[in-house]
Amino acid sequence: MPLTLTSLGCASALPTRENYFTAHVLNVRGRSFLLDCGEGTQLRLRQLDISLGSIEHIFITHLHGDHVFGLPGLLSSMQLLDRTTPVYIYAPGGMEKMLAFYFDFQSEREPSFPIIFREVHGEGLFQIMEGETARIYAFPLNHNIPAYGYLFREKSIRKSVPRSVAYCTDTAPHPDIPGWIKGVDLLFHEATFLEQDAVAAAKYLHSTARQAAQTALSAGAGQLLLGHFSSRYKETPAFLAEAREIFPNTELSTEGRIFSIPRRFITAT
Ligand SMILES: [Zn+2]
Ligand SMILES: [Zn+2]
Repeated sequence: MPLTLTSLGCASALPTRENYFTAHVLNVRGRSFLLDCGEGTQLRLRQLDISLGSIEHIFITHLHGDHVFGLPGLLSSMQLLDRTTPVYIYAPGGMEKMLAFYFDFQSEREPSFPIIFREVHGEGLFQIMEGETARIYAFPLNHNIPAYGYLFREKSIRKSVPRSVAYCTDTAPHPDIPGWIKGVDLLFHEATFLEQDAVAAAKYLHSTARQAAQTALSAGAGQLLLGHFSSRYKETPAFLAEAREIFPNTELSTEGRIFSIPRRFITAT
């Protein structure tokens, strides 16, 4: 069964005509994990026929609005759909307080289903969850508020090589990231800027496409997906060209694209 990552949005601080805010869905053998939840996430889920009910675990990288403003709407729709099963939200500290503000103004102060917050906090690479199909790890990013990347490692299934996916946004280059995600099959990495604006990237603690490619190369990644593009650029193919000079197997994580990692079987030697 393929393991897939679907892009729901690839904008950064401002949306564009084509691009919604950052969010992705990772599907590991039928289990859906939502990675970030920018504004418009539930609309994209609907457009792509991904059931809102299938989302059980949500991983938030950090509390900047372009990664979380879709949560109140998504949770509200889940309530309208009479959800009763829990939703787990993994996020740096403050997420619960941010959402409590929203629920305080609802007629029903408690949602119809449990929302279970798991605060992500730690150093180095650390495990935050073990599910039926995957182990999930977090690691600190290099951003201007606490931010964590996530690493999903599929649990072994008979005769096949476990696959892995890493999700890194928002971050400036961090010397330890390649080691933490060594050998990852699929790496989503932000590329807010092009190298021509490397000064701005450093100032706001973001990466250029070239820097993302260097991280993928150092990590020995299988494939690199770029996203979180600044709205200052009218054309995104420039990101692809810049990254491919360093890391040829790069793609743009534009809305609706589905990237899959096929199963590979262990060959007897
Ligand atoms: Zn962002
Ligand atoms: Zn940010």
